[in-house]
Amino acid sequence: MNWDYLQPVKIRFGKGRVSEIKDLAEAMGCKRGLLAADPFFFTNGLADRIIGDSKGTLVGAFGKISPNPDVEEVDACAEIIRQEKIDFVVALGGGSSMDCAKAAAAAAMTGDSIREYHGTGKVLPKTHLPIIAVPTTAGTGSEVTCVAVLTDHKNQKKSPIVSDSFYPSYAIIDPELTYTMPPKVTAGTGIDVLSHALEGYWSRGHQPICDACAVHAAGLVFQYLYRAYQNPEDEEAREKMCEASVIAGLAFTLPKTTSSHACSFPLTNLYHIPHGEACGLTLDYFARVNKDVENGRVQDFARKLGFQDVDEMADAIHDLKEKMGLRTDLKDLNLTDEQIDELIRISHHPNLENNPVKITDEILRDLYESMR
Ligand code: NAD
Repeated sequence: MNWDYLQPVKIRFGKGRVSEIKDLAEAMGCKRGLLAADPFFFTNGLADRIIGDSKGTLVGAFGKISPNPDVEEVDACAEIIRQEKIDFVVALGGGSSMDCAKAAAAAAMTGDSIREYHGTGKVLPKTHLPIIAVPTTAGTGSEVTCVAVLTDHKNQKKSPIVSDSFYPSYAIIDPELTYTMPPKVTAGTGIDVLSHALEGYWSRGHQPICDACAVHAAGLVFQYLYRAYQNPEDEEAREKMCEASVIAGLAFTLPKTTSSHACSFPLTNLYHIPHGEACGLTLDYFARVNKDVENGRVQDFARKLGFQDVDEMADAIHDLKEKMGLRTDLKDLNLTDEQIDELIRISHHPNLENNPVKITDEILRDLYESMR
């Protein structure tokens, strides 16, 4: 088996380390930064604090970023980067803000709208502004990935763009920034971490270093997610979930995600189910579909985590979702036959091809019928 491994992001992990932004900018020789942040942090004082601590290094701010960021928000951010002659970008927030900032930092170097690269196959140039990614959810792992997931609401399209120019120069993972996450966000983003670990592991593109990351990250989620959900101030649980999130990011960025992420895109686009919750919804189902692939390597995964087998792990995923009030079905949507057909059709996203078992329309129908 041949495999290549690359991880170009320098990682700084620990409480309070968000204060290191100014030093990192100096180390990169940068002087004019833009803080692109989730709007929440412009209301709770964190954005002001970070701008103040930067002692003039952060000269601009952009906060018009929605969950599942739109291509037009990326274009607006890129325009400010060009106008203000910005030379580095700090991306503060969950995956939505980090992805918007990552895409803007690359698009700003072109005269183009990011739409030109969104699901079109056109490759972004390698030149991009340096990025310091600071996640506030645990989470997407976007701080260490070469992916930006964007939505084009006008054209009803949600799709990842993959580009080497999206790797941040630095990721600062400061667990204190996640304490303000409400339980519902903790639950959804935390189940996303588990999806990254499992899908990175069973992806057809799996490889040994990412496998090891996946096992480690999934173990932490089973141990700490419910604690973080129950008690937002549980410092140990928050720190361990941040560790799980960044390591799960390393687990999937090269092998890529698979079936649960493919199905999450229509569930989010059409039914507004938050990203992590949408991924988690189908995770136990696909664990059972994939359980016996490649000489039982998914069974090995489950056993390494202390489960008897994949079925027991899938039951545990289902229970975890239920305990945290996440969706385990789609009953409340009263889906019609036509809507089920549409879900099946749009679930054929390219990520589905990374799944180790070929996912047919029959499997997708069984999945969605079982949730109806
Ligand atoms: P998010 O960034 O959309 O944030 C969800 C909600 O949580 C928002 O309302 C936000 O304001 C709030 N929030 C975030 N941090 C908070 C905090 N510390 N305190 C209080 N509120 C907080 O959520 P997410 O799950 O981190 O990101 C989802 C997006 O990331 C989706 O678009 C998804 O497709 C994408 N994604 C990207 C990658 C990647 O590698 N680039 C991987 C997985 C998912």
